[in-house]
Amino acid sequence: VSLEEVPVWTAKSLVDRGDSVKATKFKRNEALDKKISLFSGDITKLEIDGIVNAANKTLLGGGGVDGAIHRTAGPLLRSECAELRGCETGEAKITGGYGLPAKYVIHTVGPIAMGEVGEEERSRLRDCYRHSLQKATDTKLRTVAFPCISTGIYGYPPEQAVHVALETVRKYLDEHHEKLDRVIFCVFLPTDKELYLKNLPLYFPSG
Ligand code: ADP
Repeated sequence: VSLEEVPVWTAKSLVDRGDSVKATKFKRNEALDKKISLFSGDITKLEIDGIVNAANKTLLGGGGVDGAIHRTAGPLLRSECAELRGCETGEAKITGGYGLPAKYVIHTVGPIAMGEVGEEERSRLRDCYRHSLQKATDTKLRTVAFPCISTGIYGYPPEQAVHVALETVRKYLDEHHEKLDRVIFCVFLPTDKELYLKNLPLYFPSG
């Protein structure tokens, strides 16, 4: 799936089906909102500069999106990851993409929530998004996609994680929008797609 095939997000689909777009949390910024996409599907198919992996501290592969990324990238990804000697919660490390259509993989380790979310978990999840974006821009990547970090095996409630994801990306783009062309929220579950559709207008109101 190339970038041209991933449309820029707009609220039109919501309005078309009769949903009203309510009070927003952030100012309109058309140029910035044009850099956001919602992609529903498998992140390993995206032919862009970088995809973010919801990894674990070992960085040696696991289940969920991590398993899918390692399967598609192949054993050379695991070898490069092994040299990194792990990653702390909230931090991010970058590797090549190998067999993936994406050029790079940014590995970040989300907090383990198991349904209980406090300020600690919220801050670590924010760190995941911020540090991943920093890694991307430090490496001069212009297009990056995020899965719904921590909301699978790590048990962070998706309806809370969506706000952390959208707010952190919005704040990062407010400061660094010239460094990125597109940030794609990649949703895998229909329930996550709904959550993002519902909440995107709060953070990217002119979309
Ligand atoms: P975590 O351990 O951080 O919770 P998971 O991989 O278990 O990570 O889940 C994170 C999110 O990734 C979940 O929303 C899950 O549905 C989604 N996911 C699983 N496989 C893929 C994939 N191939 N592409 C994109 N998202 C995926």
